[in-house]
Amino acid sequence: DSTVTPKKIEYYNVWCIFTKVTSNSPIRRKFKIFSETLLRLATVDIAFHVITDSDSKGIAENEIQGIMRMTGKLMKVQYYDVHKLASQLENIVSVMSPHFSSKPGTYYSDALFFLSLGLHRIAPMDQNLAVMFDVDTKLRRDIKELFQEFNHFGEKALFGLAPELTPVYRHVLYLYRSKNPKTIFGEPLYSGGYSGYNSGVILINLERLRNSLEYDQIVSQDSVDHLAEKFNFKGHLGDQDFYTILGMERPEFIYTLDCGWNRQLCTWWRDRGYTDVFSSYAQCDSETKLWHGNCNAPIPDD
Ligand code: UDP
Ligand code: MN
Repeated sequence: DSTVTPKKIEYYNVWCIFTKVTSNSPIRRKFKIFSETLLRLATVDIAFHVITDSDSKGIAENEIQGIMRMTGKLMKVQYYDVHKLASQLENIVSVMSPHFSSKPGTYYSDALFFLSLGLHRIAPMDQNLAVMFDVDTKLRRDIKELFQEFNHFGEKALFGLAPELTPVYRHVLYLYRSKNPKTIFGEPLYSGGYSGYNSGVILINLERLRNSLEYDQIVSQDSVDHLAEKFNFKGHLGDQDFYTILGMERPEFIYTLDCGWNRQLCTWWRDRGYTDVFSSYAQCDSETKLWHGNCNAPIPDD
């Protein structure tokens, strides 16, 4: 057969949430920095999937136009309505929010809080791999390099996340740790412990998730209730609380990314009774590939 079939473009799927934005809110500038560094440093074709509400959508369109003009590069952009997604996520939200949300019951903000755990049900079927970012981030490397991390996933890995770089899970696991004084759960990763995960950057193997009966089981009501009780876990950080528990119970489901891929800048816990231990949690010696200005921490210029 001598017919030449043009090679189908393999898009690199990038997801983010951009909601509750007004024209002068700080998140607008954050989104601009995130999207601009994403596109400028990329050497691959990006499909950018933005979850928005109707007011925020116009602002996103505007910024993305400007960025494409500024960089002279294009990307494919798709918008998803937050209200539609919220109804597809009802299950997951009702299971997770009693344990991992500080104010259960707030309709669509809760759905967004847990969205990454159900993205495989929302993303179009032609997407097999995806990366989801917080928009308070800034890339310093080509997105292609981050996707190469999928090649290091173990056979059973579903998600890839970088470590949480604060003592928040030392705090949340206080009771479990007092009953289990030898546990590494809640200790800094840097000294061989397990500090939990941060959800500012999430690698998601959508294809494996769609086919995983084990995943469906572990996110079921009975299972999540059981795990929360087992670890005396009452969190307030949404999906990342669940990833943290998942990493304790079934570590094979999560690939641990290098801390340089999610270099968090928030120092809130340093001044909240953890002054002496904070720096051992925040320690990350690798080169910064992505800054995460969480809790509104400013991001360095370089
Ligand atoms: N977000 C949003 N609108 C908001 C607040 C948050 O779209 O009003 C999205 C945005 O993508 C943001 C993510 O939710 O990056 C998580 O919130 P944030 O980064 O502020 O949390 P932090 O990293 O400080 O815990
Ligand atoms: Mn963030």
